[in-house]
Amino acid sequence: MEKVQQSHKDDDKMKDYKALVQQYEIGVYPMRDLVLVKGKGAHVWDDQGNEYIDMASGISVANVGHANDKVVDAISKQAATLITCANTFYNDTKALFLEKLFSITPGNLKKAFLTNSGTEAVEAAFKFARAVTKKTKFVAAMKGFHGRTYGALSATFKKEYRDIFEPLVPGFSFVPFNNFEKLVEVVDDNTAGIILELIQGEGGINIGQKEYFQKVRELCTEKNILLIIDEIQTGFCRTGKMFTIEHYGIEADMITLAKSIAGGFPMGALLCSEKIQIEKSRHGSTFGGNPLACAAGIASINFMLENKLWEQAEAKGNYFREQLSKYTLSKVREIRQIGLMIGIELKEKSQPIILELLKHKILSLPAGTTVLRLLPPLVISYEDLDITVNKLAEVLV
Ligand SMILES: *Cc1c(COP(=O)(O)O)cnc(C)c1O
Repeated sequence: MEKVQQSHKDDDKMKDYKALVQQYEIGVYPMRDLVLVKGKGAHVWDDQGNEYIDMASGISVANVGHANDKVVDAISKQAATLITCANTFYNDTKALFLEKLFSITPGNLKKAFLTNSGTEAVEAAFKFARAVTKKTKFVAAMKGFHGRTYGALSATFKKEYRDIFEPLVPGFSFVPFNNFEKLVEVVDDNTAGIILELIQGEGGINIGQKEYFQKVRELCTEKNILLIIDEIQTGFCRTGKMFTIEHYGIEADMITLAKSIAGGFPMGALLCSEKIQIEKSRHGSTFGGNPLACAAGIASINFMLENKLWEQAEAKGNYFREQLSKYTLSKVREIRQIGLMIGIELKEKSQPIILELLKHKILSLPAGTTVLRLLPPLVISYEDLDITVNKLAEVLV
């Protein structure tokens, strides 16, 4: 009997995936020499069947783990029911997602604009800030990262992300992080908003000081400036609280969310306080808040709540740090850790270490040139943390 074809993938077994991507994708990403085809929990597999511990989570996207059963189930059911729904119609899944989201977000935030990504949430924040304050300027932090579209990029510090695309949106200035005096100097009567990460992710896991943020909050209130807190990387249990702002005892006027909001499905949100009121038809999105994303979001948030994922992040992060500090690591200058957001500042470049870890079947990330960034799925096992610590001890001696 002739062989029955199982799926379109059987046909593709002989294909060179790397070559295809190299041929057809515009090469903006610095590639790792690996074809990932599968994930489960804190593990991913390549096309050769090799298994890796994922200490990156696609940059804090897979907080609830890869192929989380609840998320898979929710997406499958919703896909068979309604994938797309124009935002001018009400939708049951969106309604339930919004209710779920606002059951966990800070109490002063009352309304959301739903997006497909982080940068879109940041764009909405800037547009809304200008519309509401009738002012035009923004202040952001050096080493901050807020996204790649024009508005968000204008608030992103790194020169290599900006220079060939200039001119950017006018009215943005940068100040050193955690330096209140310098911030006061640049703020003026035309400052609409200040955007900050509480812990700078891309910039090197730089932890914001509580006192600094409390002063920034006071300044914003006093000068009618909107405080925009970017929790795209720090949100959803990563640092030991549902949201990192809970560590700081302040209220934001807007918070941007994305990355792990929907179990890995593309989604973002801008959360707004009552100060933010926007007329109809002034802003919008075709896909933002679509039923599939909302279904994934509900499942993801439910999983976080049922498993108290913020507690796991705190306990596992502290455990990891304790275990790692048992070793004398000559290549390490400093470890900055809060929950499972971990930055290991090296005395040398991080890139060779990342490649070394990859050989040991561990995926990790850079943050700037000398920081090794670890953002594992929060469901990671203690055993996997032990393995990672042992490998780190080998490569960082
Ligand atoms: C990833 C990230 C963004 C951009 O999100 P995208 O979904 O890539 O557009 C913005 N801010 C922070 C802090 C991020 O980590």
